[in-house]
Amino acid sequence: MKKSALLFCIILGLFSCNQNKDMGNNRITIQNFQNYDQHSFAKPQEALITHLNWDAIIDFDRKTIQAVAQYDILKYPKSKKIILDTKNLDIQKVWRNQNDSIEYELKEINELLGQALHIPLSKDTKTISIQYKTSPDAEALQWLNAQQTTGNSPFLFTQSQAILCRSWIPIQDSPGIRFTYEAKVKVPEGNLALMSAENPKEKDTTGYYSFKMQQPIPAYLMALAVGDLEYHKTGSETGIYAEPATMEKAIADLEDLQSFLETAEELYGGYRWEQFDVLVLPPSFPFGGMENPRLTFATPTILSGDKSLVSLIAHELAHSWSGNLVTNATWDDFWLNEGFTVYFEYRIMEALYGKDYSEMLASISLKELKQESKELIDNGNAKDSHLKLDLEGRNPDVGMTAIAYDKGYFFLRKIEELTGRERFDNFLKQYFNEYTFESINTEQFLLYMEQNLFGKNDIELPKDLFSNWVYGAGIPDNLPEPNSERFRKVENSIAKWLNTGNIDTLKTQDWSTHEFLHFFHQMPDSIEYTEVKALDEKFDFTISGNAEILTEWFLLAIKKDYRTAYGAMENFLVNTGRKKFLMPIYSELVKTETGKRLALNIYKKARQNYHYVSYNSLDKLLNYSTD
Ligand SMILES: [Zn+2]
Repeated sequence: MKKSALLFCIILGLFSCNQNKDMGNNRITIQNFQNYDQHSFAKPQEALITHLNWDAIIDFDRKTIQAVAQYDILKYPKSKKIILDTKNLDIQKVWRNQNDSIEYELKEINELLGQALHIPLSKDTKTISIQYKTSPDAEALQWLNAQQTTGNSPFLFTQSQAILCRSWIPIQDSPGIRFTYEAKVKVPEGNLALMSAENPKEKDTTGYYSFKMQQPIPAYLMALAVGDLEYHKTGSETGIYAEPATMEKAIADLEDLQSFLETAEELYGGYRWEQFDVLVLPPSFPFGGMENPRLTFATPTILSGDKSLVSLIAHELAHSWSGNLVTNATWDDFWLNEGFTVYFEYRIMEALYGKDYSEMLASISLKELKQESKELIDNGNAKDSHLKLDLEGRNPDVGMTAIAYDKGYFFLRKIEELTGRERFDNFLKQYFNEYTFESINTEQFLLYMEQNLFGKNDIELPKDLFSNWVYGAGIPDNLPEPNSERFRKVENSIAKWLNTGNIDTLKTQDWSTHEFLHFFHQMPDSIEYTEVKALDEKFDFTISGNAEILTEWFLLAIKKDYRTAYGAMENFLVNTGRKKFLMPIYSELVKTETGKRLALNIYKKARQNYHYVSYNSLDKLLNYSTD
């Protein structure tokens, strides 16, 4: 650690600069750009965007967005150009200030990163404007026809993380670069438009909507959704957007949003984004949730009817501090976003539902961490099990593994164990305050923690702590073990069932989804087809409405060739786009020849319902080509 701390100081000394621009309460500063981001062409140390004015027309028929993006920029006096990231955009015209039309340069195509857009600057350039159109297969955008939604209306949503914002807005697409924005969006009548900004609560008959985001955000938090949506208020600062057919279900699971927000604020200080709403998307949304500021995007697969999957909302809410307020400077530092957020998610769940509840979540994290860490090491990718990643030349999505999330979580839990909860909480509050609306890399964080947590409290920093956890492979020996009484009861229950052969000994009345998941994880490989059948007869797993339970059940059904579940599985795969469920089910299917054929048959029907993020991975898994 000492070495990287020293390196950091040298770099900071060379590049730090006090040039800044006052943006109301939020200061955007040219600083911290010593973090070279290999996933962006932008050179923020020369010139950077500080504010976006976005004017757009949404065309469902052509599946395109026609737009003008105007930027306020900040540049060094000698800078001759500004560089933006673009991908698959049709750039029509570029001008400086009001109408100074200029020649620009669109550089060669890089398959991963897209194309750099070089715009020359003159001495008096204050703004640049770009008129452009998106491509119908822009990677961030998913256009759903009416049949693919729960209503009778088409739907559009974006997913910008990690480096997809550039496929719908020409932008400096790096998590280290922040800007504020305003937008005017025209959508077809009958639709509501929403962004990661101050949002309308009801439809406007003209189809024109205006937006404002006053807190500076990085490009990966740019978001837009358009559809037949309505709003339901759940508290003074919280509410739900959903399609009318989904709203009732959404309210049943998400009615406690306000108490989530208040609990989070008690733990880590005031919420800085004013409003926290959740948008429940159609089922093709590829992630569980996306922490778009002011408007979390969520999969409908968390609506289980018994609130047992709402820890996902706690997770997205936690990102309002870790990720959105203090952001990873590059995707190599992704654990700073996700490890903190998992830690914070479990603390919110502990405060709301008790330690025996949050320890179940931590135990599931440990299981996933062990599995993924082993896979990475066995496949010769040990370096990808370091918290600090090196994603040069690769899609940052590669880093979205249990390492960033769960190893990150256990590292922070280890720090809590070493320093005590009270000190650690105080430190975290101070950290979020210190780096508000800034981006930070791993080395900056470690140095800050060494000084302000260990140093300040006179606690010895264990010698190999950082080298083992942050720059070392796999799971360190001193991992804090979760202790879940509720899971032990599940294990006892399984043992009793298998010893007696009597399925009625399984006492599941009080089980939450997590206990059922643990039940599946603990089931021995030796279990027979007849036992699988008996389980289905007793618990009706095949027709469960809970996507987490269904996924585990389908995995078991495939292993034991329990075909009764296959119809439901096909239905699930065709109608759900969440990558977390798709990958394990398809992966289990392709292990046998018959399974592979079945997988391909289903995939041909299902693929059109998946977002790029999901089908990009599945095409590879299934060796599927659209040519
Ligand atoms: Zn997250």
